[in-house]
Amino acid sequence: MTSLMSNYTRLPVSFRHGKGCWLWDDAGNKYLDALSGIAVCGLGHAHPAVSQAIKEQADLLLHTSNLYNIEPQLQLATKLNALCGTDTAFFCNSGAEANEAAIKIARRYGHDRGISNAKIIVMDGAFHGRTLATLSATGNAKIKEGFAPLVEGFIQVPYNDVDAVMAYSDNADVVAVMVEPIQGEGGINIPDADYLQKLRALCNKNNWLLITDEIQSGIGRSGQWLAAQHGGVQADVITLAKGLANGVPIGVCLAHGKAAKVLGPGSHGSTFGGNPLACRAALAVIDTINSNDLMANATAMGDYLYKGFTQRIGQLDAVKTIRYQGLLFGIELESPCGELVSKALEKRLLINVTATSVIRLLPPLLLDQSEADMIIDIVSNLIIEHTK
Ligand SMILES: *Cc1c(COP(=O)(O)O)cnc(C)c1O
Repeated sequence: MTSLMSNYTRLPVSFRHGKGCWLWDDAGNKYLDALSGIAVCGLGHAHPAVSQAIKEQADLLLHTSNLYNIEPQLQLATKLNALCGTDTAFFCNSGAEANEAAIKIARRYGHDRGISNAKIIVMDGAFHGRTLATLSATGNAKIKEGFAPLVEGFIQVPYNDVDAVMAYSDNADVVAVMVEPIQGEGGINIPDADYLQKLRALCNKNNWLLITDEIQSGIGRSGQWLAAQHGGVQADVITLAKGLANGVPIGVCLAHGKAAKVLGPGSHGSTFGGNPLACRAALAVIDTINSNDLMANATAMGDYLYKGFTQRIGQLDAVKTIRYQGLLFGIELESPCGELVSKALEKRLLINVTATSVIRLLPPLLLDQSEADMIIDIVSNLIIEHTK
């Protein structure tokens, strides 16, 4: 028996160090990382700007608590609000916590309007986290299994179906719509180009908050700071985490307009949230993405992967669709393909399979063409082998 709980299924490898898109295991073998720790290490591993920021801050101060002003937290909030079109920020330590804050904002927003039984519309195939409220909002039965009683107050409808949301227009208990602009865990599901715009219009009409979970799709990965920015949609509440500090734990819930001041003094909090160390790392990440044009690179490399995969495997019957926006990349096969993860590992490539049959690629934003070529080559060969 191991000393760890058995909640994770781990691959038989352990990494010692990394550089850029590459990782080395404890036997010295070198791997190409096409997953970035699940969309976390957008700047790859051991990025000098992030390391430098962490070292500098570690020598100054790690933590004081939110009983006091925290200068790097204020700087990061100002920067994120400018990039995301929002007015206020609440910092926490993970994606699930950011969504908990968003859910609390929606409920308190309803409460302030006299709604005591608030409901939030959520989507089939959604993933919002593993805490009780966020798993209750998640559209995947397996994640909820055995954890009843769940948190009430979520109405689940099909993804990419505006009419299904519109059907609740007369329900006076609805306070918000919560949606991923691109579903990550759900299988890199990309909705119609006008889906979010239509949800925005519905929310405006019904006085609902639009909450976008950009925990996987945000921080440049889609080729914009937020995936919702491709369609020019401004959400009321936006959650970010994964890629924000390149591996230092952080989450943030951003709020705009009428959502910005819903949480008053004493209504919410986090001991670690927004500590100087995490905020300095996040500031370095944002700076580096900007100064190196990494969003443009994510767009270009996404297009490059798409072109390469289309040429190599696009015509195979076994390949259902190739879906992508920047470096959120999914190849859906006709049959389950979970075993490709360990087969790729044998070829020294890190990939993921989600939603049973979708190969998910989330490489660092600084991926270059020769690295993209290796991904195309190895994954295409695995698919060809898989379908024989
Ligand atoms: C990963 C993820 C979460 C949960 O984030 P944690 O940091 O694991 O709590 C929530 N929403 C989306 C879209 C995610 O991809």
